[in-house]
Amino acid sequence: MGKVQLTKIESYNNIDMIQTSINSMLDNSLLSKKLFDGAKVVIKTNLLMKKKPEQAVTTHPIIIECLANYFVKYNCEVIIADSPAGPFTKTSLEGIYEASGMVKAAQNSGATLNYNVSFSEVSPSDSMRLKTFNVIDVVKNADFVISAAKLKTHGMMTFTGAVKNLFGVIPGLIKAEYHFKLMNEENFAHHLIDIERYIKPDYSIIDGIEAMEGNGPSNGIKRNLGVLIGADNAYEADFIACDLVSIAFKLVPTLYLAESRNIFNKNEIVVEGLDYKALNIAPFKLPDSVDLTFLPKKTPAKLKEIIIKKLKAKPEFVHSKCISCGHCKRNCPANVISMVENKPVVNLKDCISCFCCHEVCPADAVNIKKSLLLKLLK
Ligand code: SF4
Ligand code: SF4
Repeated sequence: MGKVQLTKIESYNNIDMIQTSINSMLDNSLLSKKLFDGAKVVIKTNLLMKKKPEQAVTTHPIIIECLANYFVKYNCEVIIADSPAGPFTKTSLEGIYEASGMVKAAQNSGATLNYNVSFSEVSPSDSMRLKTFNVIDVVKNADFVISAAKLKTHGMMTFTGAVKNLFGVIPGLIKAEYHFKLMNEENFAHHLIDIERYIKPDYSIIDGIEAMEGNGPSNGIKRNLGVLIGADNAYEADFIACDLVSIAFKLVPTLYLAESRNIFNKNEIVVEGLDYKALNIAPFKLPDSVDLTFLPKKTPAKLKEIIIKKLKAKPEFVHSKCISCGHCKRNCPANVISMVENKPVVNLKDCISCFCCHEVCPADAVNIKKSLLLKLLK
């Protein structure tokens, strides 16, 4: 039976309270019984892109600092790591660590920032989608991995938390390649589950003190929830995070597919520390991407595929906001974006609606446009 711990923390200024809460979560975790002197602990942080902590895109540095403090105290070697969107290079990491506050978090706690950009192939026997995939070596070689996620909505997966955070162990632009191979939401979710099964994070923390709703994970609306979530099991942490903000289970493929694979059981979760339902948090505004849950369950797969293709939301580029950085083009898995006179132009016919362009745009210049037909149907 899984245990999820929650704490109410109003602001990142309550550092003592955050430290006490994280200490208590980890003291009560299965991980605390396994730690040993000199263990290499990797804190897999959500660093998506070069954003400041107050933008609520990346895991807040105070959370990372308090996590690192805990493991440093137990004489562990602590490494803060992620492979954000874009190329996985030392230069790119330097900029993101600085902007996201990780430099200070590492200095204050005694953790180190990862600059090892090597990666290796793995072939887990129980993978359901990609039988072989690449994983960054810093995570592959860790004794323990902590998924330190941010609570946000996500254009393709509806929600991103402890499980989706692990997609950042796939090196740099290879992420786009996998997105393209997997094409649709459920294939991609199975791949995320395969990654989680390979990593099996030893503890998961979801930073929901300041979260993001609407068109997340980078250009949504910041929302103060004042909640920190911790769990031994990443799916259980995600399930409670979704329940907290009323994101329906059936809209989160990583959750309902993990349950169908018997990886977790939402009915066996025990919540400790906070009666979160009593907080009466208003439901999260969902991304504008497609919600096809109105389709009858028994819709034949082929028909469903055709309908989805017709009704899916598509990206819309707002040239007046665009700063011509080219990130959307470089990160487009389907390679359907061209730069014409320094502005992106998309071939929507071959677009797979993954919204990577929306996710990586630093200027909020990519909208998620709902299909008119879907609006009429709903
Ligand atoms: S245009 Fe955007 S949504 Fe379409 S495939 Fe490329 S990155 Fe994905
Ligand atoms: S749409 Fe966004 S990501 Fe693409 S070039 Fe313009 S600013 Fe850059």
